[in-house]
Amino acid sequence: MGVNVSRETSMIYINTCPVCNNQSFTSKFAAVDYTVTGESFNIVSCDSCKFLFTNPRPADEVLGRYYKSEDYISHTDTSEGLINKLYKFVRKITLNSKLKLIKSFNGGKVLDIGSGTGAFVNHLKLAGLNVMGVEPDPDAREQAKKIYNIELSPEQHLLDMPDKSYSIITMWHVLEHVSHLNDRVAELFRLTKDDGTIIIAVPNHQSLDAQFYKQFWAAYDVPRHLYHFDKQSIKLLFEKHNLYLTQVLPMHFDAFYVSMLSEKYKGSAFGTLRAFFTGLKTFLFGGNENSSSLIYIFKKKTH
Ligand SMILES: [Zn+2]
Repeated sequence: MGVNVSRETSMIYINTCPVCNNQSFTSKFAAVDYTVTGESFNIVSCDSCKFLFTNPRPADEVLGRYYKSEDYISHTDTSEGLINKLYKFVRKITLNSKLKLIKSFNGGKVLDIGSGTGAFVNHLKLAGLNVMGVEPDPDAREQAKKIYNIELSPEQHLLDMPDKSYSIITMWHVLEHVSHLNDRVAELFRLTKDDGTIIIAVPNHQSLDAQFYKQFWAAYDVPRHLYHFDKQSIKLLFEKHNLYLTQVLPMHFDAFYVSMLSEKYKGSAFGTLRAFFTGLKTFLFGGNENSSSLIYIFKKKTH
């Protein structure tokens, strides 16, 4: 069923499931890169563990070009347009609820991986927390410096950090972008204190809004999202690395933003209104595990 579009960029085919190592997959559908290139990408499901991932996908060397868009940057920092206004409003609310969540665990050093332009790191700093941020994109690091006067570290600094350096590690909508998935999860285990906490937020393809929008669901965001997690697949992945799922929390507000973008991609008439009601439906009826994005809390197994 998958549509393959020929393109000059080099693509790599993943032949082993990153979660369970099984080697047979079923094509689910083709999703379109609406933000940058308009290219289509196949999403497959592992026949054994049902993990969904983008396959084939652009090779690491060319992935960067799929992030080159005014739209993608404005995602975080301009205030034009209703979608961006909504994004900023929701960001304020979510920053506060993230801070509250962090404070509910044992205090200590916090590491945020994939800090973008630094809004979350800044929020924790202002609240007096000891926090370090890592961001692979040099332009985003520069913005963080400019907007908040924060020094974020490049990604390779993770390798130099000593074992068990952090009480809390957070990745907010970042893990779905990381190409060496298993290496990164192993790194999370290494960097976390024995009684520490790892907090991972990712889109939830089993959410009500995902089921409603199907291939138009904005949070597939191919090919930038290499993986499309659900509770079962993320649990299995982390267990391989001795990290155990202790809690799943909803991120209700994402439904509005994701629905707005999805309506835009579908080209619907009265898209904003429809998005509002779809977002509201997920918000009200999404329950704890059917919300648009989920927060997974992991702890180390140390014996
Ligand atoms: Zn699998």
